[in-house]
Amino acid sequence: MHESGIISRIIATVTQAAAEQNAAAVLEVELLIGKLTFLDPAWLQQTYQTLTQGTILEGSMLHVQEGEAVVYCSNCAAERVLEFSFRGCEEPLPSFNCPACGAETEILRGTECLIKGIKIKLFGNGDEI
Ligand SMILES: [Zn+2]
Repeated sequence: MHESGIISRIIATVTQAAAEQNAAAVLEVELLIGKLTFLDPAWLQQTYQTLTQGTILEGSMLHVQEGEAVVYCSNCAAERVLEFSFRGCEEPLPSFNCPACGAETEILRGTECLIKGIKIKLFGNGDEI
């Protein structure tokens, strides 16, 4: 359900942008998904393919770029990148503690879910932007 809500929002945003550009079709959508959203890229793809059917996005490619999980450790006074892979809700949540000293940290990046860019096909001359 998490994925379908996010994908619905993305489809709405892209549809509006495509309409503003008078697009004939949407060819590609590029997303930046932070690791700390714990979204599974395979699930996103599957949900995207299902939910775009019958929309201007139907048949378009979804590119998912994974954003790093960056935290700030006040004990080290430094930014740290958390290294982990998370695939599926069955796994326990990874630790957000500092990988260097183990202290609690503040999350700086990794929770974003952004549309980085879209490629559309215009009516007529076939230009892609
Ligand atoms: Zn630290």
